[in-house]
Amino acid sequence: MSDEFTTTVYYDDDADVSTIDDETVAVLGYGSQGHAHALNLHESGVDVIVGLREDSSSRADAEDAGLRVETPDVAAGEADRVVMLVPDTVQPFVYEAIEDELDAGDTLQFAHGFNIHYGQIEPPEDVDVTMVAPKSPGHLVRRTYERGEGTPGLIAVYQDATGNTKEESLAYAKGIGCTRAGVIETTFKEEVETDLFGEQAVLCGGVTEMVRTGFEVLVDAGYSPEMAYFECLNELKLIVDLMYEGGHMGMWDSVSYTAEYGGLTRGEEVIDRDGMEKILEEVQNGEFAREWINENQANRPSYKQYRAAEENHQLEVVGSRLRELFSWGGDAEAQTEEAPADD
Ligand code: NAD
Ligand code: MG
Repeated sequence: MSDEFTTTVYYDDDADVSTIDDETVAVLGYGSQGHAHALNLHESGVDVIVGLREDSSSRADAEDAGLRVETPDVAAGEADRVVMLVPDTVQPFVYEAIEDELDAGDTLQFAHGFNIHYGQIEPPEDVDVTMVAPKSPGHLVRRTYERGEGTPGLIAVYQDATGNTKEESLAYAKGIGCTRAGVIETTFKEEVETDLFGEQAVLCGGVTEMVRTGFEVLVDAGYSPEMAYFECLNELKLIVDLMYEGGHMGMWDSVSYTAEYGGLTRGEEVIDRDGMEKILEEVQNGEFAREWINENQANRPSYKQYRAAEENHQLEVVGSRLRELFSWGGDAEAQTEEAPADD
């Protein structure tokens, strides 16, 4: 592994919103990302139309915020830039409705590369295809912008028909506030594969499996579920906050020597590196994507089973009761000041 930091970070001075202020931008979807992009861009002086279904419950919200709302095909018809911010599983269907509205030189833009990378959307060759992806949930993209700040973001150019796709993507990133915090350039392939791997192996899959198994091991050995819950789930946030602030060393420096020695010598035993490599392989060779696309086409039968099992697990039952009983009421913010328990 190289320790050289080679990535260019783009800031406000590297981008110019006026590059796109003669454009009309159609933001399709008004959820987490959609509302934040539409409102931030609008306030940055860009002409925005929100594209929503006739019966969408978000219509009133967008209109009350002073935005123009049309159906996706009408919005895309008027727009030079069409931004896909409906759920990834819905995007191929929305794309069918707007495909004919993409003229030569228009831009099709994403905030995640799944549908392009795995061939679920195949845009015409005379259209620019790009990504501007805040590395943050939409409510933070909006809230930080309102405070004059921003969230970090990614840009990636997939297809550059006009020759100015990157410049315009940076302008868009500035329009939603990302260049205030810093923007780095990646590719659709890298964004998708690292994102899927990260959420499966570490962030969502890895962490929950570790917490659930740790809880089960303690409870099966006769310890109380309440103690097991606090030890394996509740304290995780305290540890992760330390890692977020100061990396692994910041965390090790804050816990006891006993915790540090035990952690350094025993952690490896709970991780299956071959399993992680298999997960990456299935992301890279498209096996996971095929499985998930088929799962959606069949109305998500396995997903529903996994979800029900999780919902009924003792960890969830005990946890929801404990979060109600204790005075912090499950409010995550209230706990961040405390030091992590020793051992
Ligand atoms: P979301 O689920 O919050 O919102 C989707 C919106 O799409 C809904 O509010 C609705 O307005 C619309 N919609 C839903 N179903 C629809 C349908 N059947 N037809 C038409 N419109 C429909 O989605 P999101 O989390 O904002 O994700 C949008 C894109 O941004 C995705 O590509 C996602 O991967 C990406 N992204 C999300 C985050 C995040 O933190 N949420 C971060 C970075 C990138
Ligand atoms: Mg993600």
